Formats: sequence, structure tokens, C-alpha cells
Amino acid sequence: MISETVEKYRTYLEKLRAYEHAMGLMSYDMNTIMPKGAGPVVGSTFGVLSEVMYDMVTAPETEEMQQEILAHRDEVDPAIVRTAELATEEHARIACIPKEEYVQYTIDQTTADQVWHEAKIKSDFEMFRPHLEKLVAAQKRFAKYYKPDAPVYDTMLDGYEKGLNTATLDRFFKAVRERLVPVIAKIKEQPDVGFLHTHYPTADQRVFSDYLMDVLGLDRNYCVIGETEHPFTTSFTKYDVRITTHYHEDAVEASMYSVIHEGGHATYERNIADEIAKLPIGGGVSMSVHECQSRFFENIIGRSEPFIEAIFPKMQEIFPEQLKNVTAHEFYVAVNKAEPSLIRTEADELTYSLHVMVRYELEKRLFNGDLEVKDLPAEWNRMYKEYLGIDVPDDRRGVLQDSHWAGGLFGYFPSYALGSAYGAQMIKRMEQDIDVWTNVREGNLKPIVEWLTDKIYRFGCMKEPVAMMEEVFGAPFDPTYYTDYLTKKYSELYHLN
Ligand SMILES: [Zn+2]
Repeated sequence: MISETVEKYRTYLEKLRAYEHAMGLMSYDMNTIMPKGAGPVVGSTFGVLSEVMYDMVTAPETEEMQQEILAHRDEVDPAIVRTAELATEEHARIACIPKEEYVQYTIDQTTADQVWHEAKIKSDFEMFRPHLEKLVAAQKRFAKYYKPDAPVYDTMLDGYEKGLNTATLDRFFKAVRERLVPVIAKIKEQPDVGFLHTHYPTADQRVFSDYLMDVLGLDRNYCVIGETEHPFTTSFTKYDVRITTHYHEDAVEASMYSVIHEGGHATYERNIADEIAKLPIGGGVSMSVHECQSRFFENIIGRSEPFIEAIFPKMQEIFPEQLKNVTAHEFYVAVNKAEPSLIRTEADELTYSLHVMVRYELEKRLFNGDLEVKDLPAEWNRMYKEYLGIDVPDDRRGVLQDSHWAGGLFGYFPSYALGSAYGAQMIKRMEQDIDVWTNVREGNLKPIVEWLTDKIYRFGCMKEPVAMMEEVFGAPFDPTYYTDYLTKKYSELYHLN
């Protein structure tokens, strides 16, 4: 009976979710308050738990349940069918990896992440290098096990965004380079941003973060904020979403935009439909669509003049001395200052995609063969000079700055740029349905979140990402919306012609 199989499958999914929940909490703990000395023990706990999960996911009876559900797809809840479908794909990715290698990889990943934290503080790439080499070698092998004939990097990109490949990204980054580099080159005079860098006490910034979470409509019963070196969002179902930020007392905009960015991720997770929330499909559909949400709120909304006008009175209340002689317009101009810089997460909207492009080119070469891990720092520095025109003073502010590679996330970076580009096309469609800017000027993001929930959030992973975004756009993806949006915005800001 198919109904019995579905019941059994639901029980299995609940058990799987419990393990994922436990491992997710451990990883959250590791990234927030865990004492460093606990590292090795936690690493072996991860090893044990991931082995249990590997056994569950790859068990022949799991495969049988999924096949049976797919064979009876017309009689089964579509959410369960979709779960089985995606699990079958995921299974194919994992099942080809020998178990010892998979377990060893999980342990190596945990170690690499811990070493990276220390290596970054010490600006010591050599300390991190052997760990990164292990992860790169393992991922290369895994991609080959899965698709022996495909270019390795294409297989990895496809893992984050189904259907994405180097051909698409080469075209995308070419468009970005050709349209945006000339705009960047025209910028000569910079606005005064000194007021952003006076003293902003952490305690006051925490109050400001709370306010921003309210503006985004994030319910504290289900979403909390913590503090980490590298801000991130994690979600254990839509009922427990956690974002983090990092406070710099001499740069108020750093945490401000981290909170809005991570808040955008959280908004997506929080608005998944209840019916699918506890299933594995009850999360964001892909990295690009997720980054589309976070960067949409961070930049297209958060760095717009109407948004600044809406929140500025409250900012002046929280930071009366610091913003005493500043207008909302001056603040708007300051947080949109565009200038080639070293750190991706603090880069402005205009130069941001170039930071991503450097990482994309390096990963592509690393995985398709003509670049070795040991040569990463030199190549990183060379490309920053070539594309952004700046000298990288040390690896802490260079190749060691991001946590992604330490976590084995290769092929993830392009999603940041692609997500930004999606956002520019998405808002053009949204503006046809709702009066976006009047609402933003009133500090009312609710109609926007509702529109996004209706079109994207509620579906979780029910749809394929590329097809879903084309449905949202009402047209195929076109990077021109993104390059047009940035060209117009920055031409006005900097009075370029
Ligand atoms: Zn993000």
C-alpha cells in the first residue's frame, strides 16, 4: 500500500530532520560561543552523526520508499513527491562517494574551518593551506565520482543552482565587466563619509539592530540575532531562524547592512508555507534565489533613498551625537559610496560583482586544473590589482577573508552576483503590482514581503529555481536589468554623464 510507504517515509524524514537539527545546532554553537578547545571532540561527534545520517540516506530501503513514491506520484501529497524527487538526486550525488571518504571529509571540513579562524587572525595562509588542499582534492574526487565526464567546476555550480554552468557565468561576468568597469572608472570625487566612522558604541548598535529587525517584520518568537566574526543566517525550520552580525564601533553601516542582508535571508525562511515547513523542502530553493532576497533587502531596498528617509529619524534618536548635523540625503549618499576596496562583504553595490568575479575565476581554475592551492594568494593579489586596481596588504584582507572555502563551499560565490542581478529584474516586475517606493518611504515593507511570499517564499523547494524566477520575471533572466539599474543609480549619485 502506498499510504503505508508514505507514513514510513514521513517517519524517516522526521528522524533525519532531528539529526540535521542536532548537527545544525552544534555547528551554530561552534561558530558562536563554543570554547576553541572543544574543537577536536566536536569534530569526532560530527563524524559519528554524519555516519549515521549517511547510512540512513543511502540505505536500500530509503531508496525503495522513494522509488515507490515516485512510481505512485499521482496518489501522493505533491510535497512528499517533491521531497522524494530531490532526495533521489541528492542520493545519486552522495551514493557514489565511498563511505570512508565521506566521513573523513566531514571531519576534515570541521578541522579546516577551525584552522581558518586562527589562520585569518594570524594572516597565515600557510597554516591553512594543507587543510584547504584536502578539501579541494576531496571535492574534485566527489565531482568526478558523480559525473565522470563533466567539467568538475560545472558539476559543483550545478549543485548550488541546477542548470548553472561556466558558459552562463562567463557571459554574465563579461556583461558586468563591460558595463560596470567604465562607470567605476568615471568616479572621481568622493562624498564626505566621516560621520559614518565616528564612535558608535556596540550597545547602541544592538538597539539599532533590534529596530531594523522590526522594520523587516521579523518576529522575535521565531528569529534571534547573535554576534559572530562573519555574519550568517541559519534556520532549523521556519520556527527557529538565527541571524548574526558583527559590530565595528567605527563603522555603523557595517553591522546595519549585515543585519538587513541576513534579515533578508531570514525573511525568506520565515515565510515558507507551514504545510511544508518541517519537510526537507521547507527551506530556500537555491543559493542564488536566497542571495537574491538578502541582497534585494540590503541594496535595492536598504540602500535606496526612500528607505533611508524612513529609518533616519529613528537612527538620529539612537545616535543623536553622531548624526546631529547629518541629513537623510547625506546618509544615503554616504552608504552608497563606491570605491574599489579589499573586503567583499563590505564592498559597495557597484564594485561588489568584481569581488565575486575574482573568486569565480580562481575557483574555475582551481577545479578545472591550471591553478594550485599554494598559488592562490599570489593569484588573488594579482587579480585584485588587475580588476580593482588595488594592492592587497596581507592574506587576512585577501585570500583568507571569506569563510566559504574553509567550509568546503566551492561554487557558491557566483550565486551572490547572480542573486543581485535577479533582484534588479524582480523589482521591475514587483513595481507593476504594488507601489513599492511609497510603501518603503513609509517604512512599510509588508506589501513587499507579501508579494515575495506569494511568488517565491511559500513554495520552499517545490519549484526549480531557474524556472520559478522566470515565472516571477515573466521573461527569461536578463542581466541588462542589473547593469542598467547600477549604471542609472551611480550616474545620478556621482553626477556622471
Ligand atoms: Zn547572504
